[in-house]
Amino acid sequence: MIEQLDELKQTIEKCNKCKLYKTRNNPVIGEGNPNAKIMFIGEAPGFNEDKQGKPFVGQAGKIFDELLNSINLQREKIYITNILKCRPPQNRNPKQEEIKACAPYLDKQIKIINPKIICCLGNFATQFIFNKFGLKDKIKGISEIHGKPIQISNLNGKITIIPFYHPAVATYNVNMLNTLKKDFEKIKK
Ligand code: URA
Repeated sequence: MIEQLDELKQTIEKCNKCKLYKTRNNPVIGEGNPNAKIMFIGEAPGFNEDKQGKPFVGQAGKIFDELLNSINLQREKIYITNILKCRPPQNRNPKQEEIKACAPYLDKQIKIINPKIICCLGNFATQFIFNKFGLKDKIKGISEIHGKPIQISNLNGKITIIPFYHPAVATYNVNMLNTLKKDFEKIKK
């Protein structure tokens, strides 16, 4: 498992399938426990993540840590990654062609880690995962589906998928932080 993740890391470090490799400082592959039962998927690295090569270490990361703390979940227990492994300039939204180019890496990570719970942070992650697991007809705005777990069965057994608002929305909004905290309780359940 660790070998497979290492191999993937080396592939991503050499990746030039979309233009983002030209402007990135470091790809952000993901980190955490390869045996994690819970996997979090964000959107794309931001300024600090690109600098450090680690996911959720900037402002959104602080909120993410607060959310994990609120349910007593340690980073060491989970795996965190993003849809895009390279930072889009000025943190703009990912483009469809970038998502398409990067998708095989996330697919591989999901296959290797084989989580029981997939937590989608924000719209882009939710859409990606819903599409991947045949839940296209359930894609609605995040304001409608946040905090509502969906169970699916596949060859590896049952997986629970939970959509969340992206932690960045809580940066200047206490109400959003409270909503996120309430939704994170679902992970515990
Ligand atoms: N936002 C994301 O979606 N992912 C990160 O790693 C950091 C900020």
